[in-house]
Amino acid sequence: MTIKADNHRVGQASSAPHHTPTQPGPVDCTGTVASLRGSAPTRSTPPSHQRTKGPETPTVTATASRAAAGGPREKCGVFGMYAPGVDVARTAFFGLYALQHRGQEAAGIATSDGQSTYIHRGLGLVAQVFNEANLAPMRGHMAVGHTRYSTTGSSDQLRNVQPYLVETMHGPLALAHNGNLTGASRLRRELLRRGVGLVSSSDTEAIVQMLAAPPDCGEPNGPDWEARIRAFMEQADGAYSLSFMTRTAVFAVRDPLGLRPLCLGEIVGDDGETLGHVVASESCALATIGARFLREVRPGEIVRLDKDGLTSTQGREPLGRGAFCIFEFVYFARPDSQIDTQTVHDVRQRLGAALFREAPVPGADIVVGVPDSATPAAIGYANAAGLPYTEGFTKNRYIGRTFIQPSDRLRRDGVRLKYNPLYSNLKGRKVVMLDDSIVRGNTMGPLVRLLREGGAAEVHVRVSSPPVRHPCFMGVDMARYDELIGHNKTVDEIRDHIGADSLAYLSHEGMVTAVQGALHDRGYCTACFSGHYPLDIEDYGEERQVKLVMQEGAHG
Ligand code: SF4
Repeated sequence: MTIKADNHRVGQASSAPHHTPTQPGPVDCTGTVASLRGSAPTRSTPPSHQRTKGPETPTVTATASRAAAGGPREKCGVFGMYAPGVDVARTAFFGLYALQHRGQEAAGIATSDGQSTYIHRGLGLVAQVFNEANLAPMRGHMAVGHTRYSTTGSSDQLRNVQPYLVETMHGPLALAHNGNLTGASRLRRELLRRGVGLVSSSDTEAIVQMLAAPPDCGEPNGPDWEARIRAFMEQADGAYSLSFMTRTAVFAVRDPLGLRPLCLGEIVGDDGETLGHVVASESCALATIGARFLREVRPGEIVRLDKDGLTSTQGREPLGRGAFCIFEFVYFARPDSQIDTQTVHDVRQRLGAALFREAPVPGADIVVGVPDSATPAAIGYANAAGLPYTEGFTKNRYIGRTFIQPSDRLRRDGVRLKYNPLYSNLKGRKVVMLDDSIVRGNTMGPLVRLLREGGAAEVHVRVSSPPVRHPCFMGVDMARYDELIGHNKTVDEIRDHIGADSLAYLSHEGMVTAVQGALHDRGYCTACFSGHYPLDIEDYGEERQVKLVMQEGAHG
């Protein structure tokens, strides 16, 4: 992917159509936008360094990354904060840095002091998009941020990079979204019918315009953002964890099923006083910026962070027991993140222990995990089995950041670019290799071969989740049916395909029981394993058509 600084006009990049119910905001060509002051917008003079287009950076090679090799890819991480007296731009940067695993294709931050709004976005990793020069001018006491991996909209288009920023009748609105609206085509039609133009293929743009241009926005006493959010929630289906910023507040909103994660934290000063509040996809971002975890945003909840602190209203009643994405526990979330009362690392150890009880390997010598996501499950399996856990591979954790394209020969065997076997640990051993999931099946075969080349006498693969047999329509790039090895082959056929001595998956019941822990009242989405979707996905095919047309139109 080519890395560029975002120096487009905000009005273009953030898709503010001419009929957004506002006066056009004072935008410039730097990624900085000044908000309306009263009714007379004034243009701020951007710092000169923001006028300069960022240097074209060579292509980033991600060939050997697990995602590129066929693993599922999370769509996004979101972040927001309201904290007067805190350097919110710098804090948001480190918050996004902790959420990097949720999206590596683009990142962006918008800040506001209630008068002016600043935004910087770009393609690439968080540390590639931001630097001292572009963070320094981003002032204010409010911020929203986003790391992106796209599932809707072309990932290489800067205009799809979030936060989205538009001018509205009541000042700028900057929004970051994690999830996927399964009913996006209906929302888009509704917006188009009302004369609201759309300039990108992203479902997030539809959310922004639903909030900016609600059907009846008389609101003589100023904006009622909670009412606007409720109106959006009434019409929206699918997964959405939102963080967005108006002129006076930062909001956090979660869909009624609670599909994607979203949690709240508190920033506490040295004297114990509350300096502000923060919202993030995962608690690891709160810990990184020194914030205290408070709780998750509840399904259907609207949380407002402003000068009065944190206030909560219920936008829509939760649907049943909810449908939290179980894959967050299996693979996506960082091991140190806390979801409800559970640490992801602990849950993964329980998954590994359950897998041992269901599928032991008699006579095994050692247990290894595919680094890094399978390490906790491998430790759990080894502890339950009374076997030594050890490392079977050395992983080059920086390979995804190289700027040098591998030759065709190296690209064909991409796993070798990232992993090397540890001969001394493997030689002559009967090895149990843990992985968290098998999606396309491109990576497991080469890993089994690496272990054998490293001297392993036998390689028995154990997977701490059931076979992935169905795509995800709720914000994860899981692959199509024809790409899913679990949909197209039996377990024995997959074992032969990857060349393992044996292969076993954790059962569906074993996975749910291990994840539930003490939380027996919580519902989970397990659709990619079970095919039982928690919401109607019937019009998804139509949406794909709409997106295709939009993308073709964009290039036409
Ligand atoms: S289908 Fe799978 S990845 Fe998608 S939300 Fe459900 S559990 Fe998560």
